[in-house]
Amino acid sequence: MRYPLKNWKKIKRGYKFGEKTFYSSFHLGTDYLVPVRTPVYAPYSCEITRAGDFLEGGKTIHAVFSVRGYGRVVARFMHLSEYAAIGKYGEGVIIGYTGNTGKLTRGPHLHIDLSRGKVMLKNFLNFIDPEIFFAFKRTSPKVGP
Ligand SMILES: [Zn+2]
Repeated sequence: MRYPLKNWKKIKRGYKFGEKTFYSSFHLGTDYLVPVRTPVYAPYSCEITRAGDFLEGGKTIHAVFSVRGYGRVVARFMHLSEYAAIGKYGEGVIIGYTGNTGKLTRGPHLHIDLSRGKVMLKNFLNFIDPEIFFAFKRTSPKVGP
């Protein structure tokens, strides 16, 4: 695993997972407050299955990967200034640059949200808190006495 942004732990957060925002009662992910054109790295080897410029999320990609303990995960990166095309990318490769695009932003930031299996916008329970996901240490479980 690689953090999607440099200096991950020090980056200021905006809206966190589950918070009420200016546009909804439950924020589906976490907002990372970084300047426009900050590189975004693939956290895992992944496939970008969707890439486009949308009204609310602005320039957005969906990156799909499999993670032990979670299974198939769809990560959405939103409000980008630039993004990679649909296709397969290795872990750590730059898959976009942050921005401030779309209607649901009030300043430069990267929105990341994570879904199990597929994105179901109305099913909040299917989203994963990015702060927990990216803090998850995949060490071998201790067995025995
Ligand atoms: Zn957001």
